[in-house]
Amino acid sequence: MTDKDYMRLALEEAQKAAELGEVPVGAVVVCGGKVVAQAHNTRETEKNALHHAELLAIDKACKALGGWRLWQCDLYVTLEPCPMCTGAIINSRIQRVVYGASDEKAGCCGSVTDLTKLPLNHKPQLVKGVLQQECTAVLQSFFTGLRKERETERNKTKMKKLYETDRQKILDYIMAEPEMNLFFIGDIENFGVDTKEVEVFAHQKGDSFDSLILRYTTNYIVYSQTPETFDAEPVIKFLSTRKRRCLSARGDIMERIAPALGGTPRPTYMSRCNAVAQRAPIQAKGVTVRSLVPDDAAAIVELFCQIDEFKDGYLGHEAEMEEEERLNLCNGGRGYGAFYEGKLISYAQTSAENSLGAMITGVATLPAWRRRGFAGAVVSSLCQMCFNDGMQFLCLFYDNPAAGSIYRQLGFEELGVYTMLRGMDTANV
Ligand SMILES: [Zn+2]
Repeated sequence: MTDKDYMRLALEEAQKAAELGEVPVGAVVVCGGKVVAQAHNTRETEKNALHHAELLAIDKACKALGGWRLWQCDLYVTLEPCPMCTGAIINSRIQRVVYGASDEKAGCCGSVTDLTKLPLNHKPQLVKGVLQQECTAVLQSFFTGLRKERETERNKTKMKKLYETDRQKILDYIMAEPEMNLFFIGDIENFGVDTKEVEVFAHQKGDSFDSLILRYTTNYIVYSQTPETFDAEPVIKFLSTRKRRCLSARGDIMERIAPALGGTPRPTYMSRCNAVAQRAPIQAKGVTVRSLVPDDAAAIVELFCQIDEFKDGYLGHEAEMEEEERLNLCNGGRGYGAFYEGKLISYAQTSAENSLGAMITGVATLPAWRRRGFAGAVVSSLCQMCFNDGMQFLCLFYDNPAAGSIYRQLGFEELGVYTMLRGMDTANV
């Protein structure tokens, strides 16, 4: 057998290392024409810095031959030996070292330095560049593969921005739960997939979505068809770098992301109405109920600034919020209000209107006017207006049982928990 033949055996060993995900280096020890040891790099697999192919081959050869002096042996290795292995070669008295590829970074048989030329008691003979191309290729293809793998791995943990061309695919995914995804559907239908107001991001799992995030101004919605098993990490990573005012998701989805994001989750009940069961009458003198127009935006903000559950988000942000209310009323949102002497005293609006239904939000009554049925009257009038216009259902959140019983009387039915995470005016990074 020639040097090339033995080097081919070393290359087979290198291939075994590659299959283990190890840097592919293989070594063979030959004594009197007979292969006495073969080994490959197992540094990662064995979690051991000493497990270079040459050291393992030398170890095996000593055991096979029953002694530490390998003065009649040749060592074949696919990559130029490092300082540690060159030291072992010298100490084991190997007579001849044959290697394939040079190692510009760590090679100590000619590249970085040549330890065999030092005035030590043993100087092995060196033969370089045997099957050099093959030995280099096996290393190169390993590192190219590794880079690609890392790239894919990085992409796997990233939310990818979607565009108008993805609209149908997004809708198909979120339509699995049209009520829970009312905001999601409505925002896409009213603004688009990639606009100033709305953007959608996806985490892919194979060809389908694992999760979606929708941004509406500084509000975010997360949805996954598989709340228990979706990969929460990319979602958390994405949201933790964003300035957000409100984040919302189904209760079980929020449970998986809220702990890592901070803030206080506020679980609410999501309910659905298919027909108005009871139209609450107005029993107050001088109070009129009518639908709202974009110019009522200032009156809505003024009302919210006086209501405990809302004022935190409104006080100090009046201009911004007025713009948002106006935007909602201009873009498919409807509002209904009760007025007394021109002042808005009770209010409800739709948001996220879409072809099937809408969400009723912002139900609020000034403290002095409560417990007189205004909220019920406003909500039922608003629902009736929506049903008259052909909607199939309306959804509504409430967070306390008392509110729940009022809405049940109007014809709402509970669907499940939906959670909002507020109080994040700045990104927590
Ligand atoms: Zn080494």
